[in-house]
Amino acid sequence: RKGTAVITGASSGLGLATAKALADTGKWHVIMACRNFLKAEKAAKSVGMSKEDYTVMHLDLASLESVKQFVDSFRRTERPLDVLVCNAAVYQPTAKEPSFTAEGFEISVGTNHLGHFLLSRLLLDDLKKSDYPSKRMIIVGSITGNTNTLAGNVPPKANLGDLRGLASGLNGQNSSMIDGGEYDGAKAYKDSKVCNMLTMQELHRRYHEETGVTFASLYPGCIATTGLFREHVPLFRLLFPPFQKYITKGYVSEEEAGKRLAQVVSDPSLGKSGVYWSWNNNSSSFENQLSKEASDAEKAKKLWEVSEKLVGLA
Ligand code: NDP
Repeated sequence: RKGTAVITGASSGLGLATAKALADTGKWHVIMACRNFLKAEKAAKSVGMSKEDYTVMHLDLASLESVKQFVDSFRRTERPLDVLVCNAAVYQPTAKEPSFTAEGFEISVGTNHLGHFLLSRLLLDDLKKSDYPSKRMIIVGSITGNTNTLAGNVPPKANLGDLRGLASGLNGQNSSMIDGGEYDGAKAYKDSKVCNMLTMQELHRRYHEETGVTFASLYPGCIATTGLFREHVPLFRLLFPPFQKYITKGYVSEEEAGKRLAQVVSDPSLGKSGVYWSWNNNSSSFENQLSKEASDAEKAKKLWEVSEKLVGLA
């Protein structure tokens, strides 16, 4: 049978390119879990995906209620769940003031981390039930987790501190930053990606042996053309792609990045659990090292426990 992969945020950029790459193999049915139904349908058509290879389903990660509703609707389709890809993200580098999710969490961490945290915890049961030979849960990370690179060291750097802001609700009353500091949109995004990578490793430690599910994260390369940078200043959007192409040489096209993520979904040679994948300039994959904070097991455990409380699992 065909595998079923759920991809969040498949209406543009990396998620769409991955959906397309998987659909093209003829071996996958992709559930495009998106907040904008019409945009997702149009996007699927625009890249030439055929009707039988995908289903668009509504998911707004900035609402925990919507996450629960998505899980219910997915279960009603009676499709097995073989792979979950947590890909969607928001990035608000120029915002002066924080915005908040439906439950009142700062929006970058609320969407990128807390929404996906609840989704992955609920869907773990569905993954367990699948009889697919290689079941995987993939959480898209970022370079901010590896400080052995130039881009991983650009300020403001990610720093979760002792999680005091998160523990106090991340609702702007005490703070809207995980470390309890002043609001900084670029840092909030980077913090959320560190959470993604910590969560992947904690899932691996808690569930890999028991379930056989492969948990993985990746840095697909700098896809300087995606909508992620839509809220950046115009000069940045003009100069960022050539800068990445010619100076850092980290640039990767959406199509190539989609193929990389599709490899993590289905390539038998990328089936190892607990790994943060990256690619060399010649596009060969390797197991990358994470920064000290992004591989801190104590912090991962604390993040897990605080997040469980915030999303209502504890
Ligand atoms: P895009 O902005 O193109 O895609 C982000 C996707 O997330 C969109 O489909 C967007 O939906 C969706 N999304 C945003 N908020 C929500 C929400 N509340 N509920 C559901 N979906 C939502 O960016 P990219 O493709 O670049 O980003 C994809 C992933 O890749 C992210 O995890 C990002 O951190 C990661 N990444 C990107 C890099 C890059 O260089 N671009 C580098 C490293 C990692 P909509 O279409 O409705 O806006």
